[in-house]
Amino acid sequence: MKIDYEKLRAEFKSPLYIYDFDDIKQRFLRLKEAFKARKSQLCYALKANSNLSLLKMLVNLDSGFDCVSINEVKRALRAGAKPYKIIFSGVAKTKDELKEALSLNILYINLESKAEMLCLEEVAKELNLKARISIRVNPNVDAKTHPYISTGLHENKFGVEINEAKAMYLYAKKSEFLEPVGVHFHIGSQLLDIKPIAEAATIVATLVKELKALDIELKFFDVGGGLGIDYEKAEEPNLYDYAQSILAALSGLDLTILLEPGRFLVARAGTLLCSVLYEKQTQYKRFVIVDAAMNDLLRPSLYNAYHKIELPYSKNLEPSKCDVVGGICESGDFFAKDRVLPKTKEGEIMLIKDAGAYGFSMSSNYNSRDKICELALENSKIRMIRKRQSFETQIQEEIEFLEE
Ligand SMILES: *Cc1c(COP(=O)(O)O)cnc(C)c1O
Repeated sequence: MKIDYEKLRAEFKSPLYIYDFDDIKQRFLRLKEAFKARKSQLCYALKANSNLSLLKMLVNLDSGFDCVSINEVKRALRAGAKPYKIIFSGVAKTKDELKEALSLNILYINLESKAEMLCLEEVAKELNLKARISIRVNPNVDAKTHPYISTGLHENKFGVEINEAKAMYLYAKKSEFLEPVGVHFHIGSQLLDIKPIAEAATIVATLVKELKALDIELKFFDVGGGLGIDYEKAEEPNLYDYAQSILAALSGLDLTILLEPGRFLVARAGTLLCSVLYEKQTQYKRFVIVDAAMNDLLRPSLYNAYHKIELPYSKNLEPSKCDVVGGICESGDFFAKDRVLPKTKEGEIMLIKDAGAYGFSMSSNYNSRDKICELALENSKIRMIRKRQSFETQIQEEIEFLEE
């Protein structure tokens, strides 16, 4: 559907996020289809975009959910997810979070250290439950992505080394309160090369076989997320190759494949609509100043990430290099550097593309800016799925010191 952005802005104001739910659905189904040769369960990684309407739409597709905080678990449940389709990951789960997750009877908890396992065992003992666990293994493969989003190397804080994992499984097997059901790896985000995933899958499958020989039978092979999108070009990852690399590693093993896609499902579907406020030409540089900022979309500032920029109503006059910047008091507040764009007009609509993942979910109130509204496009209809914040809602948790 061709979106009338002028009309959208007239109704909902600028800036705003809009997500194409039909595109997300279609991606979910294509990914599921790629794994049809085996039992598989997609568990959407909420942290990419955790809007409740989006989660509800995924629940209707029978999605599971990968959560990294107890509030994400609660979001998934609120959206209607079944507890047995929810998994809980993360290096810093607190004892209270573990307790609550156990009481909610979710599918399993992904453990990231021996200390965490002992803590979980204690909690399970208190509740007199048997905790289903999976262990996040660090296979030490280089995902060849940005260092901030690479997670599968010796130097990263995530997961445990293979030998440590083996010792943990042996301990868990003997424990009255732990039940090992899965193994997990997640080597990084924004992976465009399938090879490191295949390599990791092979290493972890070998561990599964060794455990089998020790009479530890796992049910879930959790390959994490990480499938990337090409932010500069329209190219899409080959899902068939992705699936084959994992299926090949698993030959001879009868496990359910669990996937935790985040970015792949939602990144392309999201657009950040904003408006040009001013152009500023200095002796050295041209700046296009817009009404959205790094508090709305942090990726360029945080990872130097590239996002395509479109000016849908531009006459394409006098293109030249410019920096597209927001109004926050940080030099790191930019959406693009040295980008060739035509001369813009005040009030002109600008679209920052592929902003559906790690966009709104990373947004903040920095500079006391209100969080912006979110819209969904589904079956040719547009609806609001989050109201724009207001000054009043922004300050509502603060306690003012009043003089007597
Ligand atoms: C962030 C994360 C994901 C999702 O990563 P994407 O790159 O968005 O697919 C999946 N699993 C775990 C454990 C994560 O931390």
